[in-house]
Amino acid sequence: MLSTPKGTHDLLPEDLSTWQFMEAMARETFARSNFQEIRTPILEYTELFARGVGDSTDIVNKEMYSFEKGDRQLTLRPENTAGVVRAYIQHGMDRWPKPVKLFYMGPQFRYERPQAGRQRQFHQVGAELFGIDTPQSDLTVIALAYDFLALLGLNNLSLEINNVGCFVCREDFKIKFKALVKPYLSELCEDCNKRYETNPLRMLDCKNPTCKAVYQRSDIQAFLNEDQTCSECQTHFQTLLDLLEKSEISAHRNKMLVRGLDYYTRTVFEITSNHLGAQNAVCGGGRYNGLVKTLGGPDTPAVGWAMGMERLISLIQKKDTLSLDYYVASDDLLSAQVLARKLRQQGYSVDLDLSGKALGKQLAQADKLGVRQVAILGESERLNGTVTLKDMTQKTQTTVPQESLFR
Ligand code: ATP
Ligand code: MG
Repeated sequence: MLSTPKGTHDLLPEDLSTWQFMEAMARETFARSNFQEIRTPILEYTELFARGVGDSTDIVNKEMYSFEKGDRQLTLRPENTAGVVRAYIQHGMDRWPKPVKLFYMGPQFRYERPQAGRQRQFHQVGAELFGIDTPQSDLTVIALAYDFLALLGLNNLSLEINNVGCFVCREDFKIKFKALVKPYLSELCEDCNKRYETNPLRMLDCKNPTCKAVYQRSDIQAFLNEDQTCSECQTHFQTLLDLLEKSEISAHRNKMLVRGLDYYTRTVFEITSNHLGAQNAVCGGGRYNGLVKTLGGPDTPAVGWAMGMERLISLIQKKDTLSLDYYVASDDLLSAQVLARKLRQQGYSVDLDLSGKALGKQLAQADKLGVRQVAILGESERLNGTVTLKDMTQKTQTTVPQESLFR
């Protein structure tokens, strides 16, 4: 039997009512804050991610689905920020009124080891704000995430936040950090040894228990505890922490939080749930002031986040499928079809039997479908231009002129 590729899933009708609820709440949240939707292609040139996500990241090194077509290298997008930034540049959005506020929803692809909360095709909903560099704009996107989560009924989440500095002060941080961990290199994993050369900050993101223990050593922790960033970065971050407190969003500073992607500057954050097991992050984001320029656009500050929709789904209450307004039951299929179409043109949702069931069986079917009303068209109703309405919740029955069903 053929099945879905490893790490991918079908979403069946019974799953989709909850998905549609989540998507509706996302759209509602974005509309309330005037974030507008953008849809970029699932397929992009590979170089977009090599430059935009960073070729020292796991995503670009190990996790991309890439292939050649014609003479170009293409990739199924592993995340959506790079695509949105490409579109921002390609369509001259720097000339739009600032800030430019965009959101997206859609599938992403990463070749990872599938496990609970980790798929190879997964979905993200995300928001990006371009053109403003203030702590208030960081607060705007974090509050947006919280507003969405609240509409989903998710309130018991934690916000972890950190300041990773800017491109200038981070260089200094890297030099000092490298000197500090150099004596431990032989204890650290192969990946951390590589990261030591290419992207030392990312060493702190390592999941290997031995490496984690090294980074917990008191000399390294003491170094991390002193804020190593420049005074502008520190002021920005401190202001953001104050704003969060005044907005009653409690944040926990996590000095080990560096996030996997190269493009972050200053603020990075994650929203986690303790109901998710090992894959506990529902949202990851931060400020990425260098990315638009890196991809060939004008120097533009930006801040945003992405949430894993499968992880959200596993946290929210399952929604029932919407019930139908009418089921038309009749011993004459054509009459039933004509009435059903008229009702649909009035905006009602209607179903009927196509398999030739007897009237009694049709009523049983209607009950199973959970419809509100059955419109029965028997011989006498057809002759008189009437219809018998059976209310499935009240269990009452009345015969009325067909005309009275049309608004
Ligand atoms: P993780 O640490 O879980 O690997 P990440 O840092 O790789 O996350 P981001 O690239 O920041 O994740 O993506 C944002 C969100 O997308 C994550 O917080 C998570 O909810 C979701 N996500 C990322 N990768 C996957 C995946 N393979 N399957 C399902 N959801 C994912
Ligand atoms: Mg990951």
